[in-house]
Amino acid sequence: MYLPVVGLEIHLQVKTNSKMFCRCASQYFESEPNTHVCPVCFGLPGALPVPNKEAFNKALKLAIALNCTINKETKFDRKNYFYPDLPKGYQISQYDQPIGENGFVEIEVMGDSRRIRIQRLHLEEDTAKSLHAENDDTLIDYNKSGVPLIEIVTYPDFESVEEVILFSKRLKQIVKYLDISDAEMQKGQMRFELNISVKPDSMPAGQLPDYKVEVKNIGSISVLEKVLNFEVQRQSELLDKAEKIKSQTRGLKGMSGETFFQRSKETADDYRYFPEPDIPPIHISDAQIQELANSIPELPHERKQRYMDVGLESEQADIFVDDRTKGDWFDELLKLDSQKELVKEAAKWVVGEISGRLEKLNKEIDQINLTQQDLLEIVQLLAQKKISGIGVKKLIEARLVEENNAKKSINDLVTELGLVQITDSSEVENFAKQAIEQNPKLVADFAKNPNVIKALVGQVMKLSQGKVNPRIAEEEIRKLLNN
Ligand SMILES: [Zn+2]
Repeated sequence: MYLPVVGLEIHLQVKTNSKMFCRCASQYFESEPNTHVCPVCFGLPGALPVPNKEAFNKALKLAIALNCTINKETKFDRKNYFYPDLPKGYQISQYDQPIGENGFVEIEVMGDSRRIRIQRLHLEEDTAKSLHAENDDTLIDYNKSGVPLIEIVTYPDFESVEEVILFSKRLKQIVKYLDISDAEMQKGQMRFELNISVKPDSMPAGQLPDYKVEVKNIGSISVLEKVLNFEVQRQSELLDKAEKIKSQTRGLKGMSGETFFQRSKETADDYRYFPEPDIPPIHISDAQIQELANSIPELPHERKQRYMDVGLESEQADIFVDDRTKGDWFDELLKLDSQKELVKEAAKWVVGEISGRLEKLNKEIDQINLTQQDLLEIVQLLAQKKISGIGVKKLIEARLVEENNAKKSINDLVTELGLVQITDSSEVENFAKQAIEQNPKLVADFAKNPNVIKALVGQVMKLSQGKVNPRIAEEEIRKLLNN
């Protein structure tokens, strides 16, 4: 058996008005190629870069939120390499004094908390985009060149594919909560780079294999998962055959997760970093750190814990953490009532029936007529057995679909829609008697097959127009049939 050893690098485009070192607009999605450009992001000689304060503060805020140690003296450096998408011949990045170091992110794996350590977080500029035309020409669009980019590097702490995926989703939630990036992967706003090797499960914890395989430019969490699974299997099979795996960079074959050999990587790349001479070092004050720390809202893991504390299931809590509109709506409900049983029941209906209907209506939960007070009244009626589960669905439907019902009270709707349940056992008994009399064949079948009780309960529901509690109906039928 082999265990994966994985480290991640994540690139995030920072949500800002202008680019990292010039005034060009940074929101270039669907713009004509090479329209968001100037001498600075073209890298023309003599152009002077000026750091974007908003991008800097957002990177600093994220470093604080990810529990990093902040380097109060930080600076930009030139990372020298040539590529057609990098016309200057260097990228302005940060080398030995990144904004943040030694942070961590907590994830929950099978109910346990795991800490994934962050090695560093720094700020840099994005490169341009190469487009390969059909006639073998390569075209370059410089709109992306110079867009602010945060790079986060983890330690090789991941020990399973699941952990990598949970971490990636959590990080995406955090940057969205902090409004640092929209992290829309289909727009390239969040990208992954992977280092992966596998080791025999006999190798002591903390010990790393003597090779690693690098896969760059992974643009979605689902592809990331496929690549991880592919590489774990590929490398395990090689080790089974006693083959030695060399450190290498592998490319992606489309979206399948399959990878192919690109080049071997025996030594670390030498980028000849040196301090960026056009940008003076930056000093971060304690007051600045404190101010940003104070502006950090409740983070996803804190929010999840709060929902778990009021009794929600982990999967329900995850939905409210991930969909903030739903989470905010539910928080208003929690302000009205904190009785665990009611709140849990309400959560169940939001996650199930209401979410399903919203999807069909293509609406958000804050755009409907059902209020938090309504839902609490509804689940209270259900708890008192005054209405059935079917009744709950009809009330939700009445509020969501029919606009003219918006002003009626829940109690009026219950009466109007005839949803009051019959709980009086003599009344239920009457319906049960009728069902038995009218269905001799079902009664005969029931003697042979106990499952037929469901059909008899169905008959009672039909006779009572759905107003009988099915459990009570079943009890009465069994009583009458001496079963
Ligand atoms: Zn520019």
